[in-house]
Amino acid sequence: MNDPAPPTPRISKEPDIAPQDTAPQDSAHDAIRAGHGARLTVDLAALVANWRALGAQAPQAECGAVVKADAYGCGLSRVAPALARAGCRSFFVAHLSEGIAARRLLPEAAIYVLNGLPPGAGAVFAAHGLRPVLGDRDELAEWAALSDGRRPAALHVDTGMNRLGLSVPAALGLAGDPVVEKAGIDLVMSHLVSAELPADPLNARQAADFSRVRAAFPNARASLANSSGTWLADATRHDLLRPGYSLFGGNPEPGKPNPMRPVVRLEATILQIRTVEAGATCGYNARWTAPGPRRLATLSLGYADGYPRAASGRGHALVGGVSCPILGLISMDLIILDVTDAPAARRGGTATLIGDGLDIDTVGQAAGTIGYEILTGLGSRYVRHHVE
Ligand SMILES: *Cc1c(COP(=O)(O)O)cnc(C)c1O
Repeated sequence: MNDPAPPTPRISKEPDIAPQDTAPQDSAHDAIRAGHGARLTVDLAALVANWRALGAQAPQAECGAVVKADAYGCGLSRVAPALARAGCRSFFVAHLSEGIAARRLLPEAAIYVLNGLPPGAGAVFAAHGLRPVLGDRDELAEWAALSDGRRPAALHVDTGMNRLGLSVPAALGLAGDPVVEKAGIDLVMSHLVSAELPADPLNARQAADFSRVRAAFPNARASLANSSGTWLADATRHDLLRPGYSLFGGNPEPGKPNPMRPVVRLEATILQIRTVEAGATCGYNARWTAPGPRRLATLSLGYADGYPRAASGRGHALVGGVSCPILGLISMDLIILDVTDAPAARRGGTATLIGDGLDIDTVGQAAGTIGYEILTGLGSRYVRHHVE
């Protein structure tokens, strides 16, 4: 006798689990979550606390937020509204497309587009109420013709980066020029070269040049400080702070204890445990050889998930609070850990790659890069979870 047809498994719904926000619903869902790979958790309460802590560094200034590159890999769609609910009113993105995405989430906010006005793009900026950060005379003229003083924009002045913006003499030469008012310039900004190195004499030179520039535009507010600049002397803070990295937990003062709360947690499932004898090798090209008997764990996370391959043989993960070295070359989808000293390691268990004191700055260092690159490289393959 035939059994009745089994109920349609919930698993059939799962294609939409992948990179989106999820909450566990049932055991099939949990199994897929676990089998999926790595889990990224973004702590929005910590993010908001960091925004407030940055603002408290300069109570006379407004604290904005830089949310370019999908909010530093943390998810613009959740990060931007959380900051807006906390009272953030000015946002910065890099691209026009990011500005359009941000406008959908932030109907009221001032949204500045750092990379400026591409030729002919003025009407799109206007349609979405976006403010271009104008960096040369042509951009200024193009926006002035469209704005006629009614649509605000920022003026970018280059005080040392030689990257974007008018030179200091060119900016000073604009003082009193009617094009400034026609272009609706309500903010004058520049960017620090070495804000994370407080002893660098460039900071004081840029601060002095920028003070001369802002004095030439008495009707505009001024903005100079990124995350690390917010921790420098008063001369860098001005009217509007532009932190990005530190909102997401990055240390604004490298070498000192990190004053920010961690925002990102990255965990991977342990797929297998094995023991090997002295002389055994692991991974591609056999880059690691066991010096004695060892217990290894294979994690469901690799460089295709955004974990940098350059951390091969140098990075660590935590299992049950024990720091376990990454062995050999990191694979596309897998990492091998030495868990000999981590008795908690078991199949189906969890390894923490970012979190519990293992911060993004440390991971960046292990990969020969900076925490910024770790954050912005965070993969789209993770199950992402935002907690309030
Ligand atoms: C990215 C960026 C910022 C934010 O810098 P953080 O170091 O991430 O705080 C501020 N201003 C400009 C012009 C930027 O490009």
